[in-house]
Amino acid sequence: MKKRFLALAAVCMITMMTACSPSARVEQAERSFYAMDTIMSVSACGENAEQAVGQVTRRITELESLWSVTDEKSEIYALNRSGSGEVSSDTAELVSFALDISDRSGGALDPTIYPVLTAWGFTTGTNRVPSADELSELLKVVDYRAVETDGRTIYLKEGMMLDLGAVAKGAASDEAARILRKNCIGSALINLGGNIMTVGGKEDGSGWRIGVKDPLGEGNVGVLTLKDLAAVTSGCYERYFTAEDGTVYGHIIDPESGYPVDNELLSSTIISPSGRLCDALSTAVFVMGAERAEKLWRSWSAESFDMLLITKSGEVIVTEGAEERFELTDKELTLRVIEK
Ligand code: ADP
Ligand code: MG
Repeated sequence: MKKRFLALAAVCMITMMTACSPSARVEQAERSFYAMDTIMSVSACGENAEQAVGQVTRRITELESLWSVTDEKSEIYALNRSGSGEVSSDTAELVSFALDISDRSGGALDPTIYPVLTAWGFTTGTNRVPSADELSELLKVVDYRAVETDGRTIYLKEGMMLDLGAVAKGAASDEAARILRKNCIGSALINLGGNIMTVGGKEDGSGWRIGVKDPLGEGNVGVLTLKDLAAVTSGCYERYFTAEDGTVYGHIIDPESGYPVDNELLSSTIISPSGRLCDALSTAVFVMGAERAEKLWRSWSAESFDMLLITKSGEVIVTEGAEERFELTDKELTLRVIEK
């Protein structure tokens, strides 16, 4: 029995080795496309890179058609309209994940924030400032704890709406990396509208150099060097509007108040092997602010993550693991390292 198992294991090893053996036919493939409301690009190097990148674009398009909150044919759209229903395992899994992070972030992430987001006009493009009464009325249907799941069936409370906008691109980047690795791609850079995922390092073996955007200007404040890691930044410099009185309102909402986040942070970047974790936490941490985020980071034991926060007072707060990979180029900012 043991012998048979060993023989089988040996066959598997050989198959695995030959499946991803180095080949003379190394291709470089690059593709840009539009999905999930943003420009995406995938660049990969390896055998059959062209075909693998094609698979990635098809898979992301498929995920978008499940998760889009505005596409009348999507699963999320159908769920929001009927209030309950069975969804695919891809959707059920991402909903459970989002609810788990909502819980672990004390509600800073809340995938039921959509009605409030709509009131601010971030979903329609015609922005407005809702009244305090309107917001408190809408907040009655914002509560991730009221979403019930039973296997692949999801139940929403009356008037509630789910929006996976804060985690979808991260989850898509995980799928992209999985597909590329399955196709023996050892070096790839995936950029889903600023959600970065890296497979291996660059062809020469060095890490991918990823610029961290200056939230107040055009350039970068520094560079992260990454291998087999994702990095996702949330901030209000990408999507915001200026009201008549000059107040700037961003598209990330504090579920506690119903108002766009207004704390000491300009941006929050999360680094970890999981794209969806980076995406979920970059949004959550931006809502939580530096102090609560630091506590979250210290208390996190299971899957760990690193973070880089840029504050309005010109500080860049980095966890140890982020510091190792970060080079600050904007000399007007000061670096503060936090340790566990
Ligand atoms: P982006 O998608 O712009 O890269 P994020 O990943 O931070 O940025 O997600 C922001 C999106 O998430 C918003 O456009 C909105 O759809 C949704 N959202 C806003 N605030 C929250 C929140 N507190 N919890 C969950 N989703 C949110
Ligand atoms: Mg996010």
